[in-house]
Amino acid sequence: MKRKALFLDRDGVVNVDSGYVHEPSTCVFMDTIFDIVRGANRAGYAVVLITNQAGIGRGYFSLDQFQTFTQWMLAEFEQRDARIDRVYFCPHHPEFGLGQYRLACDCRKPQPGMLIQARDDLDLDMPSSLMVGDKHSDLEAAARAGVGHRFLFTPAGEENVELPLALGTRIALLSELMPWFEQNELAEPAHQPAPSTTISDETTSLKKGLPTAFR
Ligand SMILES: [Mg+2]
Ligand SMILES: [Zn+2]
Repeated sequence: MKRKALFLDRDGVVNVDSGYVHEPSTCVFMDTIFDIVRGANRAGYAVVLITNQAGIGRGYFSLDQFQTFTQWMLAEFEQRDARIDRVYFCPHHPEFGLGQYRLACDCRKPQPGMLIQARDDLDLDMPSSLMVGDKHSDLEAAARAGVGHRFLFTPAGEENVELPLALGTRIALLSELMPWFEQNELAEPAHQPAPSTTISDETTSLKKGLPTAFR
C-alpha cells in the first residue's frame, strides 16, 4: 500500500529562515516542529524535507558543510524521538550557480522534481499527502507534483502575503496540523522506518539536474 507523506520545506518551516543557514549555531528550530514530526511518524506518514539550497551552487557553503549540517539536524530530531525519513535538496541556481551548479534544473522549486523523485523512491500516495511551505513556490511545486493538501505557513504579522485559494490553505501555527495526524493515528498502523540509504551519486545527479537525496 502506498504511504502518505508529510513534505516539509526547510528554511521558514523547520527552522527560522535567517538566510542560508548551514551551521548549528545559527539554526533556530520552529515552535512545535518536533511535535508535528513525531505526530506524523506515529500516524505512519513518511516525513520528507524538500529544500532549495542554492547556497551550495552560489558557493556560500560547500556540499560537505551542507551534509554535515543536515546530519546534525537529523540527529537533533532523533534525540527528540522525531524522525525525518529523507532529505531532498536542490543545489542549483539558473543564474547565480557556479560551474556545474548553474543549471535550469527540474528540481529547484517551483519545479516539482524533488517531490516526484520522493514519490518514486518511497512509493508515496500524493493526493493524500501534505506539503507545508512558507513560499508560493513550495505550494506550486507540490501542486504540480499532485500533493493533495498544501499549507502556507505564515507566522503572525506576515499575513499580507497573498495566497490564491487553489494553491493551498494558510496556517499561522504549525500546531494547526496536529489534528491531521491525530485523526489518522488509529486508522493506520505505524510503519517501520524506511531502510536508510546512502548519499546518491552527486556527479550523476548534477549532470542530469536531478534532485539529490540522502538519509
Ligand atoms: Mg522556505
Ligand atoms: Zn536543482
